[in-house]
Amino acid sequence: MTTTLITGANKGLGFETARQLVAAGHTVYIGSRDAERGRHAAELLGARTVVIDVTDDASVAAAVKTIEAHGGLDVLVNNAGVEARGEGNTVVGAADLTADMMRSLFETNVFGVVRVTHAFLPLLRRSAAPVVVNVSSGLASLTRLSAEGTPAYAYPGVAYPASKTTVNMITVQYAKAFPEMRINAVEPGFTATDLNGNTGTQTVEEGAEIIVRMAQVGPDGPTGGYVDASGPLPW
Ligand code: NAP
Repeated sequence: MTTTLITGANKGLGFETARQLVAAGHTVYIGSRDAERGRHAAELLGARTVVIDVTDDASVAAAVKTIEAHGGLDVLVNNAGVEARGEGNTVVGAADLTADMMRSLFETNVFGVVRVTHAFLPLLRRSAAPVVVNVSSGLASLTRLSAEGTPAYAYPGVAYPASKTTVNMITVQYAKAFPEMRINAVEPGFTATDLNGNTGTQTVEEGAEIIVRMAQVGPDGPTGGYVDASGPLPW
């Protein structure tokens, strides 16, 4: 039996990933920073739930204890994420970005990934087939954001894409450090969720597909990659 934790799984892509992995036979922990939202989501899916705020050491340590007490962890999906949006759901661009805003966003999107992965390493190391999926973004790609005339080039945000580029680097370095694990970064694609005020053009079913696929890679599968549903992406 494969046991999987998905952070930020009470809604959006994390919730849909949980739904698809429950259907695939995983024992899924819905990670939620709010106990009631997590319980509700878990009830809908026939999943388990654990309170985990990825910005809080004590919360993460408590989640490790809970999951360890029930047998361990095979798959970690670092999905919890936030974007910097201001008035009228507009992306915060270079002129308005402050260091405090950047720090706060990195606390979830970057330090959260490190905090959670580091805390669960002992459990993952005990798994016969440990897997980590880091939910990145197409906006992490320096190549894409530098390609004039594309939608990615026109994206004005700074903190969010910088955080996801950092997630990609974390993925590469962790994959080399832990060759016994499969560790990959995935781009779900522009998906209608609360993150973007539901302006995304894909459904959560479409967006979660690559997260679910990379959560199921076997010990001979790829590691250290950055992929979307159609294959590898330019860094
Ligand atoms: P979403 O619907 O807003 O869901 C985000 C989830 O993260 C929520 O469950 C939220 O919990 C949780 N979260 C936020 N801060 C947290 C914290 N400190 N601790 C624990 N959980 C926290 O957004 P989404 O689109 O599904 O995003 C999921 C991931 O996909 C993110 O990493 C995002 O960057 C990435 N992504 C999304 C798109 C897209 O187009 N939607 C594209 C590329 C990548 P609450 O309900 O408590 O706020």
